[in-house]
Amino acid sequence: MPSKTTTKAKTTRKSAGLLERLAAGPVICAEGYLFEFERRGYLQAGAFVPEVVLEHPDLVESLHRDFVHAGSDVVEAFTYYAHRAKLKIIGREKDLEKINRAALRIAANVARSTGTLLAGDICNTSIYGPDDAASHRQARRIFDEQIGWAVDAGVDCIVGETYSFGGEALLALEAIGGSGRPAVITLAIPREGRTREGWTVADTCRRLEAAGAAVVGLNCARGPATMLPLLGEIRAAVRCHVAALPVPYRTTPAEPTFQSLSDPACASIPDGRPFPTALDPFVCNRYEIAGFGKAAFELGVRYLGVCCGAGPHHIRSLAEALGRRPPASRFSPDMSKHILFGTDKRLRQDNLEYGRRNYRTARAPSG
Ligand SMILES: [Zn+2]
Repeated sequence: MPSKTTTKAKTTRKSAGLLERLAAGPVICAEGYLFEFERRGYLQAGAFVPEVVLEHPDLVESLHRDFVHAGSDVVEAFTYYAHRAKLKIIGREKDLEKINRAALRIAANVARSTGTLLAGDICNTSIYGPDDAASHRQARRIFDEQIGWAVDAGVDCIVGETYSFGGEALLALEAIGGSGRPAVITLAIPREGRTREGWTVADTCRRLEAAGAAVVGLNCARGPATMLPLLGEIRAAVRCHVAALPVPYRTTPAEPTFQSLSDPACASIPDGRPFPTALDPFVCNRYEIAGFGKAAFELGVRYLGVCCGAGPHHIRSLAEALGRRPPASRFSPDMSKHILFGTDKRLRQDNLEYGRRNYRTARAPSG
């Protein structure tokens, strides 16, 4: 049994909480686990339930570690869509508690061994209807049970994400409130630019702040280009910290969400809609994510990340854009050593000349 001194020493060593970290500078949270494991063949597009947690916990731990290596300050337990309504739709309701506890245990291992924050995660329920009181009770039950498991696992904060109904976001926040953990609430804003019940983004975030959210903002649905204008409105509307986690896709004013993107260059997409399995031609490169990170930071956004579609290279670029140097930066590009485009004295001159003759000359790096 530990003596009082040992316990005290342990408490002092505890890493800084979410609010302390936000007061000190930007906090990065990598997301996008569902899309990554769908691409790799460990869960199914459609229902998008994180079954990989039960079947390949080692892979989930490894992806958490990749994201931390790339600069994520938060290890978000992979409980997104691991809720009652979603498990029911794939006939695995009996695995509900098991999958949640497993995901939290995996994330806790990584967070505690890397000094990062452990975040519980709840999300849109898919059964919420704004005027359907019974659905509100069901949603609240979904939130309460997932939050209970997260609290048991000792999470530092709880993320409630991807709400396109402001009412559902408020309901999630109310449920998190009982846990005593800081709540990060992010909205997925549909193409119309408002929540599905028609509330403006600024107004919804104002309501969330008033109801006690520590951080409010946006995640998913929108790419950097169509998320950024909304962030300015949110920053002006609230005093609390603002979050921004776009999807890494080139959305446009005409097609502002990744669900609305079309690809006239490809006739072979089964239902003609690139979302969610044919978005490859729209992926943002790491420099676009870095540009977004800088722009959002300049607007005053302090909680930053990338959602569905993100890879560790995006997170590393985001971290570097914010002035960080995560372990993965050891391997950030150095083209001076490239066989055709390099400058290193040890490289063969004829190869370099070939490169100059046959490829576009690189512009001098800006900034
Ligand atoms: Zn997403």
